[in-house]
Amino acid sequence: MKGRKLLMIPGPVEFTPEVLRAMGMPTTSHVAPAFVEVFGQVLERMRRVFLCPSGQPFVLSGSGTLAMDSAAANLVEPGDRVLVVNTGYFSDRFAAILERYGARVTQVAAPQVGDAPSLESIEAALAAAGYKLVTVTQVDTSTAVGFTEIAALAAMARRAGALLLVDGVCSVAGEELCMEDWGVDLALTASQKALCVPPGLALLVAGPRAVEAFARRRSPVGSYYADWSHWLPVMQAYEARKPSYFGTPPVNLIWALNVSLGQILEEGMEPRVARHRSLASAFRAAMCALGLAQVPVREDLAAATLTAPYYPEGVGASLLSHINAAGVIVAGGLYPQIKDRYFRVGHMGAVTPSDILTTVGAIEHGLARTDYRFEIGSGLAAAQRVLAV
Ligand code: PMP
Repeated sequence: MKGRKLLMIPGPVEFTPEVLRAMGMPTTSHVAPAFVEVFGQVLERMRRVFLCPSGQPFVLSGSGTLAMDSAAANLVEPGDRVLVVNTGYFSDRFAAILERYGARVTQVAAPQVGDAPSLESIEAALAAAGYKLVTVTQVDTSTAVGFTEIAALAAMARRAGALLLVDGVCSVAGEELCMEDWGVDLALTASQKALCVPPGLALLVAGPRAVEAFARRRSPVGSYYADWSHWLPVMQAYEARKPSYFGTPPVNLIWALNVSLGQILEEGMEPRVARHRSLASAFRAAMCALGLAQVPVREDLAAATLTAPYYPEGVGASLLSHINAAGVIVAGGLYPQIKDRYFRVGHMGAVTPSDILTTVGAIEHGLARTDYRFEIGSGLAAAQRVLAV
């Protein structure tokens, strides 16, 4: 027995051996020439992964929530109006963070759990008041709902004179996101998801309009640590291959990020997105064949980075321990109203077709230990029909 389980939760994910080796290297000084070079490369590569040639990348020590906090702290001034396009738990969180910095938040809700607000409802909300910012979660990790109309939303926000901020924590480097072409003003993520680096990095790319909005602030930023006035010179210095300091950067995580960004760019953004889509559709086909409904109410809303299947009738969270006993770790539900009725499986980053098959096999193994009746092997066959073509 290998004694090691396959981690298939929606972050942290499984990491490549090269990334893990970078984590284990003897830590050097954060101003050593070799590290300065690596940090500089990271910033250049982030622009290519976020597809934002004129953006300003930020690499901060922290989790995805800090990336959200940094965006809100630096772009909101007390009294600013913000429209939150809400697709679940992490949109609620963004609204709470924005309010903490004094924003007057209006939310456009989805008609039901598992759905996304329509462009018409967003347009109507935008017409009703003047907003400084619009935020959207590209993939809400609580519901596996992917908001697919980001380009149209960006155009709409621009027409209304607002900046569009995308929470890409569960999407960057897994779903299509062409920041600059689509007119997205800021996108943020964290290391532990499709970027495939252990937890600990909050990452943002701010487009020119977001940087200008920051420069035009009249009030000081309400967070000392997150204030871009401290971080902008540091990022600019490292990119110019000069050492700099505000807070000690997480040296090993930044090495690991450089390795992973290199692997992502070597795969290519389009093939990477296509791989995520095809693995996701294989996994969803397996869930359908096993008779498991999913939280997203329509196929076109289903994310490529994770799937959220409902437990079948009469089966509950004990299924997760049966799946675990078969060697695969998956996650429970998160969205408060339906938390106990579904589970979540992450399939992003370095995930392979055999990881998908192993996971489907473990789910069948788990289901076979409940009273649920299904045809053993039907999920695996459905996944193979997608994967083998
Ligand atoms: N936004 C989304 C869409 C997420 O999935 C998560 C984490 N699951 C976060 C924000 C918060 O990130 P973190 O847990 O790294 O703080």
